[in-house]
Amino acid sequence: MPERHPVVASVGEGIEQVDTILGGDTEFNAVYLIRASEPALVEAGPGADLPVVLEALETLGLGANDLAHLVLTHIHLDHAGGAGALAQRFPRATVWVHSVGAPHLADPTRLVASTARTYGEGRMRALYGETLPVPEDRIEALDDGDVIKLGDRRLEVLYTPGHASHHVALRDSATGSIFTGEAIGSHLPWADCYRPALPPPEVDVEAALRSVGLIRAAASGPLLTSHFGAVSDGDEACERASQRIREWSGTAQRVMSDIRSQAGEPPTQEEEVEDVAEAFRTLAAQEFLADSGGAQIDMARYNLIGSVEMNAAGLSRYWRKRWEKEAAEASS
Ligand SMILES: [Zn+2]
Repeated sequence: MPERHPVVASVGEGIEQVDTILGGDTEFNAVYLIRASEPALVEAGPGADLPVVLEALETLGLGANDLAHLVLTHIHLDHAGGAGALAQRFPRATVWVHSVGAPHLADPTRLVASTARTYGEGRMRALYGETLPVPEDRIEALDDGDVIKLGDRRLEVLYTPGHASHHVALRDSATGSIFTGEAIGSHLPWADCYRPALPPPEVDVEAALRSVGLIRAAASGPLLTSHFGAVSDGDEACERASQRIREWSGTAQRVMSDIRSQAGEPPTQEEEVEDVAEAFRTLAAQEFLADSGGAQIDMARYNLIGSVEMNAAGLSRYWRKRWEKEAAEASS
């Protein structure tokens, strides 16, 4: 892989966006430095991108003792995998994460194992690198409504489950911008394309839609997404993100209902996921074409994070569990 250097952009008063060059590609993964009197980094990026993040922070003039806070929207490795290594480099930084995610930062064994199951060991290592634990005494647990004081500004915590059950978004008091993490899914800026991020095992479609609504109501500045970058019209972004969640969830529901209603052997889970993924590939290509104004989808690039297959696995699990629950309630 060629040497990777950070791309830094100012995206609001005292807010610097750093492209971590995830997987060697640009405009996929961002972390943000807030230049408060107590400087804060929102998201760590994965362990593999640590050199890029460190170089960016050095360029931005941040010394080892300067970083006061590292705030994580959730613990998935593209957002939090580098937190342990960053905590070592910045010994005074407090690491903030939702209370449900906190134990997995202190001991990432299960998190890493479950990521390896989803991605495969080799691909996980190549994309995310090494995930070090964060010492327990450096971690502060967050819940809805909490406020993180950064000296001359603050971050207000919005509990935004859906993508993950422990996901939070953070509203910056100085700009009204919200760090959305992955709560509105992904925005691919080079094609102006939105797509959902609903992976197994925690996906909750209703919660995801409620969380997008919360963000929409609370924002009074651009949305700062982790995948990727600033979106100036937050209302439009939330509207389009919600439509995509409904469209993809509805497609999974239709495909699964159709195959279940056919005569003969019931489908295996693997067959069901593959049928949903096939429908998503068609849907993604249509959406990409429309959003980008005529560009053809490059499926390998589109799938670098939050792939079609991951959404298919997440949403088919969501509907399977939902129907099982409804059947159990109906028969009791
Ligand atoms: Zn995630």
